Amino acid sequence: MSSEVETLQALLRIPTVSTRDADAWDHEAFAAFHAELSERFPLLHTKLELTRAGRYGLLFRWPGASADRPVVLMAHMDVVPVEGGQWTHPPFAGIVEDGVIWGRGTLDDKASLVAICLAVEDLLAAGHVPAQDVWLSFGSDEEVAGQAAPAAVEELRRRGVEPWFVLDEGGAVAYDAFPGVTEPIAVVGVTEKGITSLELRVEGRGGHASTPSKLGPTARLARAITRLDRSAMPASMPEATLALFRRAAPLAAQPMRSVLTAASRVPALLTRLLLAAGPEPAAMVRSTFAVTTLSGSPSLNVVAASATAGVNIRVMIGDTVSDVVEHVRRAVNDDKVQIRIIDAGEPSPSSPVDEAFDLLSAATARHFPEAVTAPYVMMAATDARHFTAISRRVYRFTPFEMTKAQREAIHSHDEHLHVSAFLKGVAWYGTLLRSLP
Ligand SMILES: [Zn+2]
Repeated sequence: MSSEVETLQALLRIPTVSTRDADAWDHEAFAAFHAELSERFPLLHTKLELTRAGRYGLLFRWPGASADRPVVLMAHMDVVPVEGGQWTHPPFAGIVEDGVIWGRGTLDDKASLVAICLAVEDLLAAGHVPAQDVWLSFGSDEEVAGQAAPAAVEELRRRGVEPWFVLDEGGAVAYDAFPGVTEPIAVVGVTEKGITSLELRVEGRGGHASTPSKLGPTARLARAITRLDRSAMPASMPEATLALFRRAAPLAAQPMRSVLTAASRVPALLTRLLLAAGPEPAAMVRSTFAVTTLSGSPSLNVVAASATAGVNIRVMIGDTVSDVVEHVRRAVNDDKVQIRIIDAGEPSPSSPVDEAFDLLSAATARHFPEAVTAPYVMMAATDARHFTAISRRVYRFTPFEMTKAQREAIHSHDEHLHVSAFLKGVAWYGTLLRSLP
């Protein structure tokens, strides 16, 4: 076993699970993770300057030959809890079998953190000085949208650091990502949808369940939900999605190639195609509304005095929080349904596909010659979104080959990464760091 893989195994075995309630955390696990990191990466811990960000977040500065175009590499050390599912190997055992590393955090996101550290340690050992200041920002509460990443941004802002680009988790060297395409596509997220949550509430008199009146809080809320479910916001085609289709369409097998090539020439046509292709493709072109929580009376024989529903909204690039709230208000069309914003998250600004993006493409072409690099819009949220406040170029990409089954294992069971993919990822970060202009 290579020492690179042993290092990853050791860190996978430390259960750095983050949950909403920070008091319930295994604080010793986070301390142990820090200790293991400093033991495994002695040069990184002596040559780089360390600042804590939030409770367990780490922000390292590697001084470069110049501080003009600083770069930030991000990853996070926390993982989501293990809830059910049949694991082939225990999630925190760090098992390697037949060239595959198993465990929670292999894809999301410890392997990326370890790969970055291995690349840096290696370059330090070789006496390399990066062309630009390199910052490593390792979050500790990404999975619960916590405070470590905002704290790192605040620290960089305080020091007047305006990153030339920021690289966080997100896309991957993805197999089976595109209909009819067998080659991998290295998808780099250049923006992400916003996450907004609303509460719908209807108040009433309550009373005894033996004498209910018509259209009480629960019925009125149900009507509002079905109205919302039947309505949709207008769709639109973001530049990044169009670019993804234009780059991937020529790789598809016939007859898909002709269909996609024709559609990607006419944005309106491609939009219609995606809307018709099912919920996943449709989510690429419009805001989505999911009613996730419901509550009414706590007792079977009591009419609800109030009924509430939670709506989780993914705000499309080009829409705003106020647009989606207005859409809900109009779709529900009932003054007695109160609408309250619980969380407001706007979509991220789009990062340019320019020379910084080309650096990522060049490193990818070197280590994954069969892959095409393309921008895309991320559906999920990352810590990277906080960095859009201080940098125009925020990219979301992890340099690991991933199949569809692997992507589905993220936040689920049987998360795993191939040893060969991990080692290629380490080399990819090394190439990127050496190629900074
Ligand atoms: Zn993650």
